[in-house]
Amino acid sequence: MTFEFSIEFFPPQTTEGLEKLKAERALLARLEPAFFSVTYGAGGSTRERTFRVVREIAAEGHPAVPHLSSIGASRAEIRAMLDDFMAAGIRRLVALRGDLSSGMADMGELRHANELVAFIRAETGDWFHIDVAAYPEWHPQARNPREDLQNFVRKVRAGANSAITQYFYNADAYFRFVDDVRKLGVEIPIVPGIMPINNFSRLARFSDACGAEIPRWLRKKIESYGDDAAAIHACGLDAVSELCRRLLQNGAPGLHFYSMNQSALTTQILERVRG
Ligand code: FAD
Repeated sequence: MTFEFSIEFFPPQTTEGLEKLKAERALLARLEPAFFSVTYGAGGSTRERTFRVVREIAAEGHPAVPHLSSIGASRAEIRAMLDDFMAAGIRRLVALRGDLSSGMADMGELRHANELVAFIRAETGDWFHIDVAAYPEWHPQARNPREDLQNFVRKVRAGANSAITQYFYNADAYFRFVDDVRKLGVEIPIVPGIMPINNFSRLARFSDACGAEIPRWLRKKIESYGDDAAAIHACGLDAVSELCRRLLQNGAPGLHFYSMNQSALTTQILERVRG
């Protein structure tokens, strides 16, 4: 099967982490992703590190896509970052509201991602291809599914070109979300975000916080393996590869991998799905 895919990294904190990421990236680059994206910490906490990794990726000759979140930032700060990206030849970014981290009180000047997208369009025209976040199982702060859908549509109307979803393990949630937004007139590609299953207990905690559901059958099956890391690995690989196949066979426009800066699982899943 041939399809487009992209891979996400977070910016490491240490020189050692940066070197390790460089090595993992070289392995992943052989698979020819459409782009590598780099996350951005709440309140600008990784501003320099994100930009550093983005510049490294671009210098290696790969399309580099920074994430940019508006929470805690002023319009002038966001404009300065857009200028930096433009000067570095960056043509695509992921525009997010982000989350308040502990100790942060100030939401910043833009309250929601649709305002950020509108601001980027007003300031930079069509320079950037803008991706936004989508939540097939709803954003955890959403008042209700209907409003969450309408808020997603707002981001698209503000000028987003495509969307990447929060990860999920229930393909039907994705198909239902796509059907719902198509009925509201949204035509942009909505690319499923794929989280390989590595450290299951950490994933389960994280999933509760970000509103992604681990289906009961999968949770129970993995829990039944106890400390058997090889069995958990095999089960996770089977489940996520099957999810990817089902998504692509039923019309998903590509895949976006949350690599957690590791090449092995993303590579294994891609090898299986490509066949
Ligand atoms: P929004 O689209 O603004 O939505 C946030 C909440 O507000 C939702 O409940 C929505 O329904 C509501 N809402 C939206 N617009 C309005 C409106 N106009 N009026 C009233 N309510 C509204 N976080 C990071 O910190 N760094 C990253 O690099 C990062 N990358 C991500 C990449 C992807 C693909 C995804 C899916 C998430 C990422 N996140 C990242 C997490 C994201 O920042 C959080 O989920 C955050 O809570 C919401 O960001 P958003 O852009 O989706 O916000």
